[in-house]
Amino acid sequence: MSERQVLHTGGCQCGAVRYALYAEPVTVSLCHCRMCQKALGAMFGAFAGVPEAEFAWTRGAPAVFRSSSEATRGFCKGCGTPLYFAYDGTGRISLTTGSFDDPEKIVPKDQIEVETTVSYFHNLTDLPLRGPEPQYSASRTEIATTNRQHPDHDTEDWQPPKPDR
Ligand SMILES: [Zn+2]
Ligand SMILES: [Zn+2]
Repeated sequence: MSERQVLHTGGCQCGAVRYALYAEPVTVSLCHCRMCQKALGAMFGAFAGVPEAEFAWTRGAPAVFRSSSEATRGFCKGCGTPLYFAYDGTGRISLTTGSFDDPEKIVPKDQIEVETTVSYFHNLTDLPLRGPEPQYSASRTEIATTNRQHPDHDTEDWQPPKPDR
C-alpha cells in the first residue's frame, strides 16, 4: 500500500487537533459574510477548500457547531481555534488558512460575500506599522518558554495543555 504524500499540515493552537492535506486546495478565499466574521472573531474568514477524500484529521477531532441548516463549523474544544467550514453534501472541507502550519503557502485567490465587507478593510494596509512593543520585549524570552502553542509541525510526544490550566 502506497503512503499518500502529505502536502500541507495544520492544527489548532493547543495541538489536540491536527490535520493533513494530500492535495493542493482547490479554493482559497476570503469570506466577508457576517457568519464568518462571528465564527472566527475576526474581520473576515479565510478558508482553503479541499475534497474530503484528500484530507484527514491526524490527531484528535474537532467539536462541531451546526451554524446553519446547510453547514457546519469545526473548532478545537480545548483551545477554541476555528478549524473548518463545510457545506453539507459537497464532499469538500474548507480549512481556516491561519491554522495551517505554513500559512504563507496558502495564498488567497478571491474574495466572496463582499457585500458585508467591513468598510475599513481596503485601508488596512495603510495603517501605521509598529515593531514589537518595548515593554514586552524584555519578557519575550519568558513568554516564549511559557507559551502553550503547539509548534508549526507534526509532533509525536506533544501533550496538549489541560483545558483548565
Ligand atoms: Zn486545541
Ligand atoms: Zn463566510
